[in-house]
Amino acid sequence: MTDKIIHPTIATVSATRHILKHFKLRASKRLGQNFLIDRSIVRGIVDAADIIDNEPVLEIGPGIGTLTQGLLEAGARVTAVELDKKLPDILAETLKGYERLSIVQGDILKVDINELMNNRPFKVVANLPYYITSQIILTLLEQKLPITRLVTMVQREVAERMIANPDNLSPKDSAKIYGALSVAVQFFTEPRIIFDVPPSAFLPPPEVTSSVIVCDVRSTPPVDVDEKLFFKVVRGAFGQRRKTVINSLIGAGFERDQLVAAFDKAGIDPKLRAENLTLEMFAALANAL
Ligand code: SAM
Repeated sequence: MTDKIIHPTIATVSATRHILKHFKLRASKRLGQNFLIDRSIVRGIVDAADIIDNEPVLEIGPGIGTLTQGLLEAGARVTAVELDKKLPDILAETLKGYERLSIVQGDILKVDINELMNNRPFKVVANLPYYITSQIILTLLEQKLPITRLVTMVQREVAERMIANPDNLSPKDSAKIYGALSVAVQFFTEPRIIFDVPPSAFLPPPEVTSSVIVCDVRSTPPVDVDEKLFFKVVRGAFGQRRKTVINSLIGAGFERDQLVAAFDKAGIDPKLRAENLTLEMFAALANAL
């Protein structure tokens, strides 16, 4: 006779406190460890992932297994990459009995993700460590992995930057929030914020409000460009935000004469700043160059 294992929900304050105490674990600030303790948030993230049975999911930073458990219960086949060397042994206990789970100890910025995911399409679901959020998102997108959807929890401010358009202001401090991250995310995906999450949904609580953002990866980019040159232009343009685009690009190593001709050909006013240029305008400029 096989006993069916009934797993207690990890996403509660009491279960999380118990696990931390039992394993003598302290959440590491350096590794961005803020564990979810609200099961409705876990459910919201898992629902947004829209998982079909046995679908491969890459989870970044499973921590003590809170979101992992939600994904497994929804029928996902989870590969979870965790940097903290202490956690795989703990996860083996907290998620004992779940099949379809593979835990990999390593740095998501360094592991060979295609090999881990067997070169097959997959989704990414993660409550990301906030100290390297943008870096992780850009690394995943630039590698051209066969990702179909990313569902990530990030700081609200980063989520706002990801969906920003030219001239968007941050509601908090009126700073321009449209930048190279916005262009890159929107070049590769169609992003949308689905809900905000207060600090009280985590243990320990982070200092900022978070947002869950869904990014559906595009099958083809929205503009036809030489990608390498396009991103060189975008990065160069936002390199010195206070300058005009043309001066920023000169600072980034482009030739003045070539730029003057390219702005003219693309029909773009060279006195504009990077934050005024849409993705299409950056593409027109790159193509004219
Ligand atoms: N998924 C858990 C949850 O929702 O409660 C934990 C999320 S916590 C915000 C971020 C996790 O990412 C931590 O477990 C941390 O150790 C891990 N982490 C930090 N840097 C990482 C990296 N470079 N690669 C993989 N995991 C990392």
